[in-house]
Amino acid sequence: MGVFDNVDKFDIDSMTPEEHRERQAYVTSKCKCKGCPTYVEGDADIGYCFPLIGTSANIKWEKECICESCDIWKEYALGHTHYCTRCSEVCQVMKTQTNDAP
Ligand code: SF4
Ligand code: SF4
Repeated sequence: MGVFDNVDKFDIDSMTPEEHRERQAYVTSKCKCKGCPTYVEGDADIGYCFPLIGTSANIKWEKECICESCDIWKEYALGHTHYCTRCSEVCQVMKTQTNDAP
């Protein structure tokens, strides 16, 4: 097994641009961030766990993260939290695995 296996939880690599748009819309439609104590009103995009959405421009302070209670977190077997400030799932996995790599 390679160091970076199991990184692409959303299967982005095999998607067409249209499929990518549809998957992003699905993720943001299910996203619970707007009900989270950390969330700050005014962010244009949520679904921060999804690649390419990016971190929040408005959230500066981490409080509780409710991602682990989100259907998307469970459906895609995500493993991180605080995507709004720390970057997407794939980004955090890459950082962790790069730090752990021999
Ligand atoms: S896991 Fe977190 S960032 Fe991703 S859709 Fe759910 S609440 Fe939003
Ligand atoms: S990523 Fe986590 S901490 Fe950030 S707003 Fe969404 S649920 Fe809250």
